[in-house]
Formats: sequence, C-alpha cells, structure tokens
Amino acid sequence: MKENKNFPKQAALYAVISLILLLVMNAVIMPMMNKAKVKETNYSYFLEQIDSGNVSKVQIEKDEIRFEVKKEDGSSQVYSTGRMDDPELVERLYEKGDIEFTESFEDNSVLLSFLVNWVLPLVFFIVLWNVLFKGIGRRLGGSNAMSFGKSSAKVYVKAQTGKTFADVAGQDEAKEALVEIVDFLHNPEKYAEIGADLPKGALLVGPPGTGKTLLAQAVAGEANVPFFSISGSEFVEMFVGMGAAKVRDLFQQANEKAPCIVFIDEIDTIGKKRDGSLNGNDEREQTLNQLLTEMDGFNGKKGVVILAATNRPESLDPALLRPGRFDRRIPAELPDLAGREAILKVHAAKVKTEKYIDFNAIARATAGASGAELANIINEAALRAVRNGRKEVSQSDLEESVEVVIAGYQRKNAVISQKEKEIIAYHEIGHALVAAKQKHSAPVHKITIIPRTSGALGYTMQVDEGEKFLMTKEEALASLATLTGGRSAEELIFNSCTTGASNDIEKATKLARAMVTRYGMSNEFDMIALETVTNQYLGGDTSLACSPETAARIDAEVNNIVKKAHEKALRILSDNIEKLHELAHFLLEKETITGDEFMEILNKEKAMA
Ligand code: ADP
Ligand code: MG
Ligand code: ZN
Repeated sequence: MKENKNFPKQAALYAVISLILLLVMNAVIMPMMNKAKVKETNYSYFLEQIDSGNVSKVQIEKDEIRFEVKKEDGSSQVYSTGRMDDPELVERLYEKGDIEFTESFEDNSVLLSFLVNWVLPLVFFIVLWNVLFKGIGRRLGGSNAMSFGKSSAKVYVKAQTGKTFADVAGQDEAKEALVEIVDFLHNPEKYAEIGADLPKGALLVGPPGTGKTLLAQAVAGEANVPFFSISGSEFVEMFVGMGAAKVRDLFQQANEKAPCIVFIDEIDTIGKKRDGSLNGNDEREQTLNQLLTEMDGFNGKKGVVILAATNRPESLDPALLRPGRFDRRIPAELPDLAGREAILKVHAAKVKTEKYIDFNAIARATAGASGAELANIINEAALRAVRNGRKEVSQSDLEESVEVVIAGYQRKNAVISQKEKEIIAYHEIGHALVAAKQKHSAPVHKITIIPRTSGALGYTMQVDEGEKFLMTKEEALASLATLTGGRSAEELIFNSCTTGASNDIEKATKLARAMVTRYGMSNEFDMIALETVTNQYLGGDTSLACSPETAARIDAEVNNIVKKAHEKALRILSDNIEKLHELAHFLLEKETITGDEFMEILNKEKAMA
C-alpha cells in the first residue's frame, strides 16, 4: 500500500542480502548438520544388512542410497552409501517384503525440517536486523528508523496538551492572530460566505524561549480539533526518501481528519534554502519539496491549517513563504515590561508565594529576558525557598534568583585576596559612579562583589524606571562611559589595569560598533548600513557589507568613540575621587549594597562638601 509505494532502496537491499545469506545457510550449513546424524558406509555393508533383515527403510536418491538399520536395542541408525548400478536391488528389497523403500526417508519430520531450514533462520535474521538497526537508528537520533514511511505525528486533542491561551501571558498580537485561525476551524461558513480564503499556513517566528511551542499547544487546547504535532528534526531520517514519506503520510492523516491543525516545530531543519550546492543534503531537499507539494495539493477550504515555528526565518526557503503556503507570519517577540510581569504572575501562580510580591520590580530588573528565562527565575526562587527551609517564595528569593539566572550562583567559598577584593570594589564603584554622574544612564539598582559561578567577580546592576524601546545617542554614549568606568577606576587608583574588564570591553566594542555601522551615530559616516544583521533572533550576528578600506575606517571610528567615552569616565572619576574611595570602602565592608544605600552616601557627601 502506501508504505510500499515508497519502500526505500536501502531496505530492499537489506532484504536481498538476508535472503542470500539464508540460501547460503540452507545450501551449506544445514546439510552439514544433517550429515552429522548419518554414517557413511560401503555398498557391501548395505547388502549385508538387507540380507540379515535389519534394514527397515531405504531411500534411493540420485547418487546416494540412505538406509535405516534397526539395532538390537530397538534404536536405529541411518547410513548412506554410494549408488551402484545394481538392477537387482529393487528385486532384492522386494523379496525381503518388510522393507519400505523409495519413500521419503524422513517423512514424519517434514514439518520439523521445514522449521529448522527455513523458519528458524528467518526468525534469526529478523531479530538480528531489528537489533542492529534499532541500535543504529537510536545512535543517529531517530528512535524508529525502521518504521517505514510511517509518520510519527501524534494526534493531540484538547485533553492532551492541557494548555490554553490562559497559560500564555503577553504575546497579545500572536494570540489574536491565532484566535482567528481557531475561529476559522470552528465556523468555516462565516468566512466562506464573504468569499475569504483563510491562510493555509502561519509561521510563528521569534527568539528561543518566547513561547512559540507553547502558543501552538494552546491553539490545540482551544481549537477542539485534532492537532498533529511533529518536529522538523523528525523528518530527517537515515534513509533518503523517508522524510518525504513522512510528510506524505502526515498530510494524508490530516486530510482524513479535517478540520484539523498540523504543527511543524523547528521547521528550519527541513525548510532551509535550497542553495544548489553540490554537497547539498538530498534528503532534506526531497522532504522540503514534498512539503511544498503537499501544501499546494490540499484545499484550504477543507479546514487544514498548518502552523510552523522557527527562530531562523531568514534561512527559510522563499518558496515556503510565498502566498498560499506560510503566508502569515506571527511574531513572538521578547516580552516587554508588562509582558514580563504577566509571565511572572502566570508562573508564580503555580508556586506558593508570600502575599505581597512586587512582580513589577522583578520585571524591571529582567529587561531582555525571554518567557522561558522568567519561568526559570520563578522556579529558582522556589528552589531557594525550599533550600532555606521556608514554605513560601519571598521577594528576596525572586531577587536573588534573577541574579542566579543572569550571573550564576554565588561562590561563597571562593578565596579572593584582600588586594584583589579591593580592585574589584573600586572597579564596580567606578561603573556605578560614572553611571550616577551622567544624566542619561539608568539608575544603579545594586552593586555586589560576591563572585558568581559564571566567572563574574562582581557586578553593578542598573534598572530602568520604565520600558525603553529606543536608545538615544546620548544614552548610548552614557552607557559606553559607564562600561569603561570600571577600568578607569583601576587606572586611577592602582595605576595599572587587570583582566577583569574583558566583559566590559566586549560589550563596549559591540555597542560602539553598532553605533557606527548600523545606527548611523558616528561623525564619520552618514546614514549608511555598513553591516547587516544575519540572524535576528539568535544572537544577532552581523556581516560586513563594505570595502576593506571602509572597514579600516570603521575600526578607527569605533576606537575613537570608545576612547572618548573612556576619557569621559576618567574625568568623572577624578572629579569625584573622594566619593570613589568612600563608596569602595563601604562596598568592601558590606560586599553588597543597594542602589538606595549608594545614592545616600553619594548625596550625603555632596551636602557636606
Ligand atoms: P520556544 O519559543 O523556544 O518554542 P517555548 O514555547 O518552548 O519556547 O517556551 C518555553 C517555556 O517558557 C514554556 O514552556 C513556558 O513555561 C515559558 N514561556 C515562554 N513564553 C511564555 C509566555 N508568553 N507565557 C507563559 N510562559 C511562557
Ligand atoms: Mg520551541
Ligand atoms: Zn566591569
């Protein structure tokens, strides 16, 4: 049937090999085993035994004669001898009367010999085959490499995902778009009446952990229709052609169950651009082609909606994105302040918390965190509460777990010399002081010099009051000065520098470079895109789009910007050097100080001066 249609070449090959082995076994090994029971003898012994009446059966074959001799103790022995040209043999046997001859010798064991010769080896090979290929399949990552052409799409219905839109916080635009699709599946007439074609497919795009998979599961929960879910990687099989077979099978199942939803997670595994390179991946291209064909093949009015999710939309084949296929794009962006607060609340509802928790404060401290990270923060907080023997999660648990997720656990027993601690304290206060003394930087929230498992020896946390969507040039410059503040303090106080600033340097370079190449914020270049972002959702790598000469000028300009920021930081610190000393000593003593404590010392000092 449909499985055979695509029975892969390789599988047929294996079948043939087994068959050949089977035949070899029958031709060589089995006869040898049978021979073991049969004794060779000569013709005269045969005649002797006939005459003495010991022979009970004779089987005359093409070039051998087998005969059974009855022993005195009742047992019997089979002998074989060469066949002679002996015309009187038949007569001789006939004369004896009680000898059965020319009959099949092992008449009664036909069934047994059939089993031994054919069925047993077959069973043996099937077992061997299974063991061998199951093992290979597992090693290659596909658990069922041998389930020919069967798609492992699972049918999900409401009860099985157990997720609804209520589980997805924020993401209102995405939810709205998906609600429409759910509505279409419930009342297709409404849309048919006005003549609207509903989208066949919708593509959920966004950075990892923003709830794309969760949204699809919620759709399944809400839709009350069958929900087929499969991950892109499941199509990639060890045999060429299997992926395509799976796609075909999946769509056949879906067509039978319409109206229904098909969800393909991580579609970029199969949907990558076909670039026509020689070493292209045959299997993936076949699978993609099959997917394109299937998407064209079915009638959208029937009510099959295809959802897919990816965090690399730019790598998808353009053919997938044209109208009539995945023509709708549903963005699942990183949550904003309100979104983060809502996500925290959804997940906090699953753990026991104290009555008054300021989720807004946590949300403000986690700018740029994804839904998955926020869920993790809540869980870390709950674990911390248990560790400390409490029954409820408190505000401080949450605050600490934000830092755990950002910077790793505290390394309480790390031994750091007094001298190094001093350098770290000055470094951190350097950051904080530069930040506080500039108009355009976010307020300092917390400073700590407790080392973390991520390798950070201390850090200064700045938290914005509200949500920011834009960054002005002034803010970018202020942020650069703040980043260079740590190193500046080291230079100013110790007249030397340490490796501790590597992370600051990395961040500063990235920001300054983006200002020059992407934001048009330098004096050297106008509004020119010198770099393009290649994967927006996965770290935002960039690729240079300019001549080598321009690249050199970019480097010079980046250096220039950072240098100016560095000078500014040095100036701010030397203007406030007493406060730098006082705050650094305070931090050394306390190890962790809050933004309020920091500001209090800063302002008190000012009033006295
Ligand atoms: P991806 O976008 O990478 O597919 P997932 O959907 O797998 O992300 O999200 C991972 C987890 O993060 C979810 O199981 C959920 O616990 C949490 N999460 C992400 N976004 C949200 C959200 N908007 N609301 C609630 N939880 C979320
Ligand atoms: Mg996912
Ligand atoms: Zn630093």
